[in-house]
Amino acid sequence: MDLTQLLKYQDVDAKLFSIEQKLTASPHKKKANELALLAKKAQAKSTELENEANNVLKEIDDLKVSFQQNKKSLDSLLKKDLDKLSLEEFDSLSSLKSKILNNLNSLEKMLQKSAEKINNILQEFNKTKKMYDNARLQFEDCKKKIQEETKILEPEKDKVKKELESLESTVDKRLLEEYKKRRNDNIFPVVVPLEGKNFCGRCRMELPMAAISRINDTGVITCEHCKRLVYKK
Ligand SMILES: [Zn+2]
Repeated sequence: MDLTQLLKYQDVDAKLFSIEQKLTASPHKKKANELALLAKKAQAKSTELENEANNVLKEIDDLKVSFQQNKKSLDSLLKKDLDKLSLEEFDSLSSLKSKILNNLNSLEKMLQKSAEKINNILQEFNKTKKMYDNARLQFEDCKKKIQEETKILEPEKDKVKKELESLESTVDKRLLEEYKKRRNDNIFPVVVPLEGKNFCGRCRMELPMAAISRINDTGVITCEHCKRLVYKK
């Protein structure tokens, strides 16, 4: 079977493949993906920090309530007429008073710690926000560059596509179908020559002799390893 037309088709297709590669392998595209991931991470971190802050704020509210309760108890203790108390009562009152003062002291410390926590969360939040804003800004810049790239390459791509279309009718229908199937799986080149007596010209795997014996009738055989169409030069 004559493969000249198919090989000609593949030569033109090589131009298309190279444009496609340029478009997908664009460093701006890679960078844009990285930045999008970074922005997503920053967003998740912000949510996490927000939840953390809410927990600490609730903690502070609880501490404040405890503080007020202790303060109230202390006030009522201080209002008591000490002269009317027995010695025993006075002692227990004194110990209660020092207990409440201790409570107030440790509650104050805890409140201070919580305030520090909130401060840290806020700082972290601002840092995360800056990171997010920065990533978004760079992402927009990348997007612009990708658009510029695409603007240049798309017309070239269309031109080659048209050229390919005009060649389609010259290629054996069944072969073209097999070719396109592989090309859609991003295999390129699709058609490769046999190397030596029985090796795939691309992946160099040995092809079974039974398949080799069919090559003259069918024109091509499929390499089971890399799925390419192998022909005899
Ligand atoms: Zn192969």
